[in-house]
Amino acid sequence: MNSQQEEQAPPVRKVVLVTGASSGIGEAVAGRLAAEGHQVVAGARRTDRLRALAERTAGAAARSGGGLEPVRLDVTDRADVAAFVEAARDRHGRVDMLVGNAGVMPLSRLDSLLVDEWDRMIDVNIRGLLHGIAAALPVFAAQGAGHFVTVASVGAHEVAPTGAVYCATKYAAWAITEGLRLESDPSIRVTTVSPGVVTSELADSITDAGAARAMRAYRAHAIGPDAIAGAVSYALAQPPEVDVNEIVVRPAHQR
Ligand code: NDP
Repeated sequence: MNSQQEEQAPPVRKVVLVTGASSGIGEAVAGRLAAEGHQVVAGARRTDRLRALAERTAGAAARSGGGLEPVRLDVTDRADVAAFVEAARDRHGRVDMLVGNAGVMPLSRLDSLLVDEWDRMIDVNIRGLLHGIAAALPVFAAQGAGHFVTVASVGAHEVAPTGAVYCATKYAAWAITEGLRLESDPSIRVTTVSPGVVTSELADSITDAGAARAMRAYRAHAIGPDAIAGAVSYALAQPPEVDVNEIVVRPAHQR
């Protein structure tokens, strides 16, 4: 192949599953990868939002040979996640990447005793991630290839007041993903992306008035979610022998 043919070669089309694709980072990842020519299966509970995303990306996806399919998904339900992965594999013959992005962040001080919210963070941010790994690992092993991406957080590296449980779930997400990397055959790639403050609906789930007030100031210098989508796109685009393990993307303002 000469250099001109190389420049014109179409990108390799991958089958990419994204959890939590109905808003924020997941929406940006799903939309960007579909527009780049990949076949994206976009999961979340709000299917109206997923359908709207599919409509918005239809033109760009069609031009690049990609696509975006909305699928209802609750990551806290292990059977639901298994069906999400199996159905995608059956429809497309393979699954190349699973982006474990779904997450919630109802921050509060521990002495607020919002125990149901602690449980929800554990269920979505940890159990939901593990359900995806359990569903995709056998598929990747059978294919002899696959790529896990976990959307963790700078909260996987540092703890702040009101963030004890949220950060604990993100430390866990980091540890699980690193363990997965160490245990995996080199044919399986593993990437943790840790965003700093990104524009999204994440802080809307905060019910504690003090934590919500503190977050408004903390989130004043957010960057757009496409900055994170770009990091996922970069990891996906690497050749099979290159495994991008850790990417931290913060606003320049966030020290
Ligand atoms: P959003 O609130 O905008 O998006 C969260 C997504 O998770 C939504 O699509 C939501 O979909 C989905 N979700 C929540 N619960 C479930 C569930 N049970 N099953 C399936 N999907 C679910 O926030 P972000 O885009 O910011 O968050 C995405 C990830 O990025 C999270 O893991 C978050 O912790 C992480 N992150 C975000 C940062 C930020 O500043 N924005 C910083 C660091 C990390 P639906 O409700 O429709 O099911």
